[in-house]
Amino acid sequence: MLSFERLYKDGHEEVIFFSDPSCNLKVIVAIHNTILGPALGGTRMWQYKSEEEALDDVLRLSKGMTYKAAVSGLNLGGGKAVIIGDPEKDKSEALFRAYGRFLESLNGRYITAEDVNTRVEDIEHIFTETSNCVGVAEVHGGSGNPSPWTARGVFRGIQAACQKVYGDKSLKGKRVALQGAGSVGRFLGEYLYNEGAEVTVCDISEKNIELFKEKVPNAKVVGIDEIYDVDCDIYSPCALGATVNDNTIDRLKCKIVAGAANNQLAEDRHGEILKEKGILYAPDYLINAGGLMNVSIEFEGWSEDKAVRMVDSIFDTTLDVFRISDEQNIPVNKATDVLAESRIEAIKNIKGKYLGNLPHRFPGRKTRH
Ligand code: NAD
Repeated sequence: MLSFERLYKDGHEEVIFFSDPSCNLKVIVAIHNTILGPALGGTRMWQYKSEEEALDDVLRLSKGMTYKAAVSGLNLGGGKAVIIGDPEKDKSEALFRAYGRFLESLNGRYITAEDVNTRVEDIEHIFTETSNCVGVAEVHGGSGNPSPWTARGVFRGIQAACQKVYGDKSLKGKRVALQGAGSVGRFLGEYLYNEGAEVTVCDISEKNIELFKEKVPNAKVVGIDEIYDVDCDIYSPCALGATVNDNTIDRLKCKIVAGAANNQLAEDRHGEILKEKGILYAPDYLINAGGLMNVSIEFEGWSEDKAVRMVDSIFDTTLDVFRISDEQNIPVNKATDVLAESRIEAIKNIKGKYLGNLPHRFPGRKTRH
């Protein structure tokens, strides 16, 4: 249930319900924190079993975006939106345009993008009504598919982990067990292959394995449950969350866990167990932030140079997190939170809350009219 007690507990600033019965629009927008800048996070469309479940999801996801933006050095806050509906049946131009009009009324406090089950075509309809969205089509000045950028950042995070564990960032001869040959997994596989790593991959989709083999011809394929037992240097989860859990953690034979999937640790305590076992964890929400970094520069005018510079900074930030983890003797997942929270706290003390001055910071950005 939504209550002020709950918002106070997790620090959410604002939760908004938008509805328009004419097009069956039911959206919840959660703005978690705007100290660093306007809240940015995608809009997810899902057939939630209940409104309560949708609310839980949007509150959890929006808080995660605050931490991701903060640790990535972005001048953005955290927010997220969920549309309650069946993406196969309930999508329409009217629904996304109605949603766009509501977003416009937030005056730039929340900026949306694609997420699970929302595509660039949907964002285009939103963009007809408001400029407060990113991930728009390249023909309209957008930045296109975020997955290659996410993969690049994950690769930089893996290199940082190798630097820490092996004293050398090179992937040459390193054995990587890659779970998930989807959009990010494929691009990551290509980076690893080009750097001379030996990749073992699994996926539930035969088609995606085939596409993966086009990029990584010497990849070894194993079953989806066998991936946890692969003798390797790096386990890279790029499919699902919570795969480091009580059932898998003792099976992992790696020195490093580093991948693109969100929320890889089933619970925080699994970060402590990894530390005790001498397995270095490269924090998910830091090393998978390349896609977010990439869309974040759409407002100021996207350029490949800028995107590369930002995404490659993940290497140094990951090393910073490892240093904090060592200095404070805390698990890496906690050290990442420390870095994110300390940045928010420092900026809060100098300039207070973001005041919605987006048009001044990003002049020249227009809607699609
Ligand atoms: P995707 O849907 O393109 O790929 C996921 C792949 O995992 C698919 O090939 C799917 O068949 C496979 N899969 C599903 N269940 C599996 C299982 N049990 N075992 C093995 N494979 C399984 O998604 P993506 O865009 O590549 O994202 C991968 C992960 O990274 C997701 O967790 C996503 O939330 C996260 N992520 C993605 C981005 C991005 O830019 N795409 C950004 C940040 C985080």
